[in-house]
Amino acid sequence: MSQPFADRLARIQPSPSVEANARVTELRAQGRDIINFTIGEPDFDTPAHIAEAAIAALKAGDTHYTPSAGTPTLRQAVADKLARDNGLDYTRDEIVIGAGGKPILYHALAATLNPGDEVIVPAPYWVSYPDLVALNEGVPRIVICDATCGFKLTAKALACAITRKTRWLVLNTPSNPTGAVYTAAELDALAAVLRENPHVGVISDEIYEHFVYAPACHLSLINVAPDLKARTLIVNGASKGYAMTGWRIGFGAGPSDLVRGIVKLISQTTTCPSSLSQAAAVAAFSGDQAPVREMAARYTERRRLMLEGLQSVIGVSSFAPDGAFYVYLDVGGLIGRETPTGQRLRSDDDVVLYWLESVGVAGVSGKAYGLSPYVRLSFAIGEAAIQEGCRRLGEACRALR
Ligand code: PMP
Repeated sequence: MSQPFADRLARIQPSPSVEANARVTELRAQGRDIINFTIGEPDFDTPAHIAEAAIAALKAGDTHYTPSAGTPTLRQAVADKLARDNGLDYTRDEIVIGAGGKPILYHALAATLNPGDEVIVPAPYWVSYPDLVALNEGVPRIVICDATCGFKLTAKALACAITRKTRWLVLNTPSNPTGAVYTAAELDALAAVLRENPHVGVISDEIYEHFVYAPACHLSLINVAPDLKARTLIVNGASKGYAMTGWRIGFGAGPSDLVRGIVKLISQTTTCPSSLSQAAAVAAFSGDQAPVREMAARYTERRRLMLEGLQSVIGVSSFAPDGAFYVYLDVGGLIGRETPTGQRLRSDDDVVLYWLESVGVAGVSGKAYGLSPYVRLSFAIGEAAIQEGCRRLGEACRALR
């Protein structure tokens, strides 16, 4: 068979951050000492009380299929969490549990997009948004939001991007990869445009909500515009806040008819997320929240170390993130410079490769996130590695001609 694959497979790329991380693993296997700033997940272990809840569930024989929407206990725990942490009022039937936030996004788009429907994706974006849209025959409408507007979508840019075919706006606050966090005034301005366009729904990805750096604070669009609740799907989960990426638990909170549509798809695809992970997630969302605060405090310190370390790196400038655990580093000052071996740096891809080969520092090229020339550096790594990584970047950049 010459072409065994469906056309849709050609519409998407493998995740670039996953690939960058795989490259690091490969180099380490060859004995190279690499500082890995590509990681898109917490380096902490899942808090003990959460792991114990899964063990208890296993011992109690909690090893069967659950309802496709998730267990009633977990959906209630999510409703309670939304009330406690976000001041939002949701009932259990407005909540669906998925095997991660990513499958919730996938199923939400699959449930709602007809071919040619447009989805507004502000760039820099999390790598999966455009591909998840394309996979579901939608058209990603990328709107560049550069550093002059803090990498955030303005009301004006939103108004210009909306067409009759717009089905969704994807809003990610705090943002991966920039760490941008929308303020109440910014959300308010976007809400005004959305009110003029009742056909546009909002997917509000709040997966980094627990990691925000004072004076910034996390707000959902619905906190400032409760009237938009009927057309907003909140996407969130346990992966980042509770260091549970491998457990695969995410949730969607939105209008009950949309939730029912997503549940219908889940019932025919994954059936339900792991019963044991769901039991663990109940402990995460309703148990002791101190570990979340402790991890947030560690990221605060790491962010400080990172910004301090990057200050002495010539040719780069960092945008201080208000949230998440990434620095989206402007490497424009390095473009056009020449490496000691005579290579000219022409793009952020070249910069990433030069850092990796010359000093063993790995980051992800801004190209992957839709805005160049930048490099995303994650500070979800140990403090000593952050300091050593910044020292090496200084060395690499000083060596350029
Ligand atoms: N949204 C954003 C912005 C992310 O960075 C990620 C994870 N990298 C996700 C959603 C999905 O995470 P998960 O599927 O583990 O819940």
